Amino acid sequence: MAPEIKYTKLFIDNEWVDAKSGKTFETYNPHDGSVIARVAEGDKEDVDLAVAAAKRAFHRNSEWRQMDASKRGEILYKFSQLVERDQKYLAELESYNNGTVLNIAYGIVSGAVNSIRYFAACADKITGETIPADGEVFSYTLRQPVGVCALILPWNVPISMFLSKVCTALAAGCTMVVKPAEQTPLTALVLAALLAEAGVPKGVVNVVNGFGPGAGTSLTHHSDVAKVSFTGSREVGKLIQQASGNSNLKRVTLELGGKSPLIIMNDADLDVAVPYAGNSVFFLQGQICIAASRLFVQSGIYDKFVEAAVKYAQSIKVGDPTDPTSQNGPQIDKEMMNKVLGYIESGKQEGAKLLCGGNRIGTSGYYIQPTVFANVTDDMTIAKEEIFGPVQNILKFDTLDEAIDRANATNYGLAAGIFTTNLNNALQFSKHVEAGIVWVNTYLHFAPQQPFGGFKQSGIGRENGLDSLLAYTEVKTVATAL
Ligand code: NAD
Repeated sequence: MAPEIKYTKLFIDNEWVDAKSGKTFETYNPHDGSVIARVAEGDKEDVDLAVAAAKRAFHRNSEWRQMDASKRGEILYKFSQLVERDQKYLAELESYNNGTVLNIAYGIVSGAVNSIRYFAACADKITGETIPADGEVFSYTLRQPVGVCALILPWNVPISMFLSKVCTALAAGCTMVVKPAEQTPLTALVLAALLAEAGVPKGVVNVVNGFGPGAGTSLTHHSDVAKVSFTGSREVGKLIQQASGNSNLKRVTLELGGKSPLIIMNDADLDVAVPYAGNSVFFLQGQICIAASRLFVQSGIYDKFVEAAVKYAQSIKVGDPTDPTSQNGPQIDKEMMNKVLGYIESGKQEGAKLLCGGNRIGTSGYYIQPTVFANVTDDMTIAKEEIFGPVQNILKFDTLDEAIDRANATNYGLAAGIFTTNLNNALQFSKHVEAGIVWVNTYLHFAPQQPFGGFKQSGIGRENGLDSLLAYTEVKTVATAL
């Protein structure tokens, strides 16, 4: 049975309101393309109201600013309990709106509960320093919340994205306006209701659904927004940095795309490496920014590995997200499906060897077969551009030195991985690869304690870990005459 749609309006100042324009937009189920709800479409006027509410809630005398940090932590902990209470419903709604296979969605939501608890525990651990200055003054620093934040989300893992940004900003004491992706507006509204139930005061968290050029740009140009945290494409990330510079020099955290390399050495344990390499690019039907979409396999095991990789891809069951036996669901929408099919076509045209998959499945919904290309070379489009779909590109290399240079020959730098039983290989690769996270004999391992983000054009700043928390604060130095 389809999950109930409880909320479709904007959430401003802890009230459910229609868009000032009265406009709404349709949201879909990617399994069959059917409309599942009409959602209020926020624009500049609504963003102005939401930012004004967040600004009031950030006033130095407000309930939120007067609140002890430990109380903020308690509210976050309470929120984690409410998410845990409603995890089944949240996972079902996520799956319904973005096509994540239900079994995986359950895991994502229960993992997210831990992440909320991590930030709940961080809230009262933000401290300044005392500074040995020149003897004439007593110097110390205060870490203060940066202000009103705009949190702009993508559609691929909406609940995780909402929670990692919102909980960090709340732990630091900020107020915020969240703009979910237009493809997946629903779960953010449920989470906003749970935050209010947990005791977050009015105006602290506001959710304005809408489109990038409307609600999105209104937020990034708003002079009362002090910081933008954005996860999405590199192209939009660049626009956001420009908008921040052209308005009031907002602080900017950007989590962008990737073209992550995964290296399989001759000495790797193939029983471990093959399924990890498959999962690294097929998980969530390839719609993950850290997808290992350049798989470099050393020449001594290349043929054997390719054969096993094809078997793995063919074993993945793609189908209805609500079917407990499905491992992969549909792509988010028709546009993304066609984009991925276009990349597959370019792989064929440019001379890569298509070993399995390559086609849409059926005519209803946006399903694509897990696809494996061998004989991929560095100059091919599928080896250079982010595909964001279930396409594994296998390249051959001879030496680790060569693999590191080729792994680094990209403007992206989000994630990287290596499978090897030789410690020196692992250490050399981890030291020299240009990536924000390096996995050794594993891949896609996350924990809220681990900073996550990109080198180069994969982003600016980090999410998760203490680094991300401090990025929602300003440092104030106080020097008092002795
Ligand atoms: P997108 O950039 O198209 O959209 C992301 C969000 O930005 C949406 O909410 C959209 O409405 C908004 N937006 C669009 N134009 C805007 C503008 N001009 N100003 C302000 N906001 C605007 O990305 P997407 O298609 O939703 O997500 C896919 C991309 O996200 C991929 O490139 C993927 O790699 C990246 N991603 C990165 C991470 C990470 O943590 N690094 C995680 C998930 C996804």
